[in-house]
Amino acid sequence: MTIAKDRLALLKEKLLQERDVLVAEVDKIQKHSNDEFESEVPDINDEAARTYSRQVMLSRGEADRQQLKLIDEALESIERGDYGICVDCELEIPYERLKSVPFVERCVDCMTKLEEARSER
Ligand SMILES: [Zn+2]
Repeated sequence: MTIAKDRLALLKEKLLQERDVLVAEVDKIQKHSNDEFESEVPDINDEAARTYSRQVMLSRGEADRQQLKLIDEALESIERGDYGICVDCELEIPYERLKSVPFVERCVDCMTKLEEARSER
């Protein structure tokens, strides 16, 4: 364990807080897409708009779920004791970076490489 205990506690706290927010949001979106959209009487003029806003909601929900997964993984790695280690190069991720994005998986170098590889495709 390389991160000081009090810092780790702070990061864990942040993760748990963000997790709460996301869980509530995912929950809300799920309820919204199940009830409201289904129960509304289809209006032909409005259908395209509704389909669109539904897609926006679902993709937002998808992004939230992915973030939730990262947060859960970060919390697990805190329990395991390998939190803050870059998944690619296995070097420590600087505390400042973790502080701004506590569920980040990669160091800046690896993230940049990944983004470059993605944009080349
Ligand atoms: Zn790295």
